[in-house]
Amino acid sequence: MSDAAAPQKHEFQTEVRELLHLMIHSLYSNQEIFLRELVSNSADALDKVRFEGITNPDLLGNDGDLRIDLHVDEVARTIVIKDNGIGMNQQDLMESLGTIASSGTRNFLKNLSGDSQNDMNLIGQFGVGFYSVFMVSDNVEVLTRKAGEDQGWLWTSEGEGEFLLAEADKAERGTTITIHLKDEEDTRAFASEWKVKEIIRKYSEFIVHPIWLTTNSIPAPVEEGQEPEAPEEKAPERLNEKTALWRRSPKEVTAENHKEFYQQISSDYAGEPLTQTHSHLEGMQEFWSLVYIPAKAPFGLFQQDRAHGLKLYVKRVFIMDDCKDLVPNWLRFVSGVVDSEDLPLNVSREILQDNRTMASIRKHVVKKTLESLQKMADDKPENYATFWKEMGVVLKEGFYMNYEWLDELKSLLRFHSTTSGTEALISLKDYVGGMLEDQKDIYYISGENLKTLETSPLLESFRAKGYEVILMADHVDEFMMSGLMDFDGKQFKDISRGDVALEKTEDEEKVEKQQQEDFQKLCESLQNSLAETVESVRVTTRLQNSPCVLVNKEDAMNAHMERLMKQMGQDNMPASKRILEINPEHAICKTLQAKAEAGEELGQWPTVLLGQALLAEGSPLPDANGYVQAVNKLLS
Ligand code: ADP
Ligand code: MG
Repeated sequence: MSDAAAPQKHEFQTEVRELLHLMIHSLYSNQEIFLRELVSNSADALDKVRFEGITNPDLLGNDGDLRIDLHVDEVARTIVIKDNGIGMNQQDLMESLGTIASSGTRNFLKNLSGDSQNDMNLIGQFGVGFYSVFMVSDNVEVLTRKAGEDQGWLWTSEGEGEFLLAEADKAERGTTITIHLKDEEDTRAFASEWKVKEIIRKYSEFIVHPIWLTTNSIPAPVEEGQEPEAPEEKAPERLNEKTALWRRSPKEVTAENHKEFYQQISSDYAGEPLTQTHSHLEGMQEFWSLVYIPAKAPFGLFQQDRAHGLKLYVKRVFIMDDCKDLVPNWLRFVSGVVDSEDLPLNVSREILQDNRTMASIRKHVVKKTLESLQKMADDKPENYATFWKEMGVVLKEGFYMNYEWLDELKSLLRFHSTTSGTEALISLKDYVGGMLEDQKDIYYISGENLKTLETSPLLESFRAKGYEVILMADHVDEFMMSGLMDFDGKQFKDISRGDVALEKTEDEEKVEKQQQEDFQKLCESLQNSLAETVESVRVTTRLQNSPCVLVNKEDAMNAHMERLMKQMGQDNMPASKRILEINPEHAICKTLQAKAEAGEELGQWPTVLLGQALLAEGSPLPDANGYVQAVNKLLS
């Protein structure tokens, strides 16, 4: 090596240093994952070179047999991981392994909880995998040459503050990483054949590229006086399966296989799938699909730009991660694989967007996924409840601006209701099954949270007559209702709307008419005081225990929707005036009516009644201070 090629010293970027410090000093609990991370990097590098080789066959040359070779040397205490993948040039090495903190690194550091076990699980998810090698090693060498380039490079580091980079000779394309294991009891143990086999079986069995192992173990002790035998190299042994899991017959894949494969492709190494759907379609076109429903909402499910989708393979060749064209946004919690025989190998994201083959694969994937959810709902309701609690709100988005799959989605919906309470869940079928004989519609009420909803005065008359009302407290519910018009021929009715009341008998109507006349003075007086916020005041029979309630005009947005629009920044929308309804049976209203009849002032009462009505439905008070003062005056 000439002087010009002397190793250059570089500092790790600050956040990378922080990460390395953590790796070396705090995260001990699950050290074996370093191997999983390095093997997965090799597999990625192989995918990349195979993909680029489609359009540029020279890259592969006569070295088209893509593989990962592990070599474990118990004597030297080293593990070598070698691949003939895409490799790295000087710039790649600088960026990927040192001077640029990936968004993964930053997110990882941000999300650390301090709980070692928990934090270990984050490593895979945030793509900070390579550095985990410093949990077990105090010296790592990365010898690499990029496909299509002549110059090789050697990157070395002890993991603390800096790394060295030098030109180096390397005959073949790809990357060879040599790990010198720390001389400590628990790290030495990784340089053993059975340990490496165990780790690969646990985490990397379904890597599609062959993983081969050779070992060099410490020779057995010899009798005194005899020459020690030279350590013997065994013939390479293949560690992983030969057929991609999704291309095996669905019947032959065990639950344990699914669990391991799910963990690998979702990087959710602590989790397991609730269920999956695995199919092989032949005919007009041929493809395999394997889709998992996780038991826990994947990290960042509600972040706008979160990557999601399925892995796409064409004729067993990895094409891309997170292919969004295969699943709608409202199924973004799934992970899985599609492997098509018909798509061209050189597909691009643009081509995929309006490709007919893709469209029909997508249709199949959605259908199968919804079927697997339905099956879980039917056969294992406890599992489905788990799913619903974690990811149900995402499914609800499927009703917004969408006209496909509505029937399937409707039967997957679950709700809390006045009958089920806030723990148990009901389906729409359950609701309809429990409808009273004279009941035509499906009643619901929506608001900020279940607790406030449960005590809403609007429910009083429904409760008294035994009608079940669905409680909706998710932010997406309003959007869902824009697409959820009916179920089983029955309309949905929002009971906070002025025109939605229980059917009245002729007698009841007569009574109500009479009461309206009796309380006319009070209604007028309240109306005058509250003219700014209230459209009109009238008598109602929908209340039992509360003095009054606010309802919406027939065509107005309901209060919850209005709050939502405000939260989304639609401030300048004029607030629609609402209707105040009073309970003629309530003592307060009777007293006030007497006052109004006698021509007395109502004083603080209009403010207090309006405030109570707002509080009862969970709306904020426009003038909280004014309300408190009014109550205090009344009390004193
Ligand atoms: P991630 O794999 O999520 O990107 P890692 O920390 O595991 O994060 O790896 C960082 C980067 O280093 C990879 O994205 C890749 O560009 C590069 N790299 C690591 N190992 C290899 C390898 N064996 N061959 C080629 N590039 C590699
Ligand atoms: Mg990685």
